[in-house]
Amino acid sequence: MNITHLTELEIQDYATDAKNSEGVVSHIESCESCKNKVVQYRLLFSEIKNSPVPAFNFNLSEVVLGQLQVVEQARTGWVFAKYLPLFVTVILLAFPLYFYRDVLAGIVKQTQVDVLCTAIVVALTVVVYQSTSLSKKFKRQMSTLSMIDNLQH
Ligand SMILES: [Zn+2]
Repeated sequence: MNITHLTELEIQDYATDAKNSEGVVSHIESCESCKNKVVQYRLLFSEIKNSPVPAFNFNLSEVVLGQLQVVEQARTGWVFAKYLPLFVTVILLAFPLYFYRDVLAGIVKQTQVDVLCTAIVVALTVVVYQSTSLSKKFKRQMSTLSMIDNLQH
């Protein structure tokens, strides 16, 4: 039986079914202590896999690059989500206001302000809701990333 136990990295590689040398495989098969560590790592990794990150990879740079793309997507989505309700509101308000401007001219100005205020409140509510859920998602992904980072060291 081997006296020297496997390194944490070798055990992690084994736990993720990475390519292993014959020495590693035969040690784990004969060593209860390392076998237990493999079980613990697999449990830990499966927990991480269940988190929102789509794929777990031990190459940290790939993980970071993946996260950056997620950030880009989130930013693009953010700008779009932020302004879309306002654009829609402006367009929806502008068309009737333009075509019925003669009719509307007779209506008290206060009414238009009320309609505008209501539309703005609705639009702001949508924006706040969308940005909140986006930032929650982003924070969750970032905490997963730091967890992965901690595992590397
Ligand atoms: Zn061992």
